[in-house]
Amino acid sequence: MKKLFAVIGDPIRHSMSPIMHNDLFSSYQIDATYLPFQVKKEDLRDAVKGLKAIGAKGFNVTVPHKTAIIPFLDEVDDLAASIGAVNTVVNENGRLKGYNTDGPGFLKGLQIYIPSAAGKKIVIIGAGGAARAIYFTLAKESPFMIDIANRTIEKAKALIDDCPFPVSSAAYSLEDAEKNLGNYDLVIQTTLIGMAPEVEEQPLDLSHLKKQSHVCDIIYNPLETKFLRSAVSSGANVQNGIDMFVYQGALAFEKWTGIFPDVERMRENVLKQLGGSRC
Ligand code: NAP
Repeated sequence: MKKLFAVIGDPIRHSMSPIMHNDLFSSYQIDATYLPFQVKKEDLRDAVKGLKAIGAKGFNVTVPHKTAIIPFLDEVDDLAASIGAVNTVVNENGRLKGYNTDGPGFLKGLQIYIPSAAGKKIVIIGAGGAARAIYFTLAKESPFMIDIANRTIEKAKALIDDCPFPVSSAAYSLEDAEKNLGNYDLVIQTTLIGMAPEVEEQPLDLSHLKKQSHVCDIIYNPLETKFLRSAVSSGANVQNGIDMFVYQGALAFEKWTGIFPDVERMRENVLKQLGGSRC
């Protein structure tokens, strides 16, 4: 019988995950289908119960359910539990186990350009769910420091207090971070600012950026945000959100099938849908 995989979120219409995973299932000749389901907050418990009841083998979880889903799962792995968010669920013999592949997916993508984060001076802009996954994952990589800059500085402070891994960190306003950007080797933009359709916005000015620093924007629509264009003008090397997206998907696929898939194929497929080239 065809195996069922899914992604649940709200909205879900623009998700690239079905295109990416269905292509992988057919290329590895796995008799499976991956479907998007729009699930309202108030229906989340029933949706999870339903997916379990019909024997779905696994599913992804996206905004706004990554945290809210945790009480409805049978088990959550240690990293996902410390992050407090799940983006991948595996049906392990009738038990639903939650994982977080966003942070590890970001790290794998980063390693294309920077083999190790050890000793690096890092700032993360934003303190939402994606920032949390990236922060906790990078904290384990022995960086020199990871500072957090956010519009709401209390959320940056709370994120630092919550981190279970030892790492030197300070919380900044966006204005203070802007002035101190020259301190960092790696700048990671995780806010919603600059995402389509608000493509002419950026969370802070990059004129103080250190030349040759590495600047990531985890947004992938558009492929080149205003933030990344400014970083190029300031002499930085840049990376968009495609690598993180593709690797979080590859790690989910591996959890479901035991196969670590062809990431280049996934990247080309997503880029084709977005109508662009790698940044
Ligand atoms: P989230 O939890 O809602 O966090 C949103 C963040 O954006 C917070 O830090 C928030 O600051 C900040 N923000 C929102 N509006 C702002 C404004 N007007 N000015 C300044 N800051 C503002 O969202 P998320 O789940 O972390 O997702 C964030 C982004 O990452 C989205 O663009 C998403 O598409 C992208 N993402 C990409 C991948 C990938 O695979 N590439 C994976 C996950 C997420 P406050 O705390 O002050 O509200």
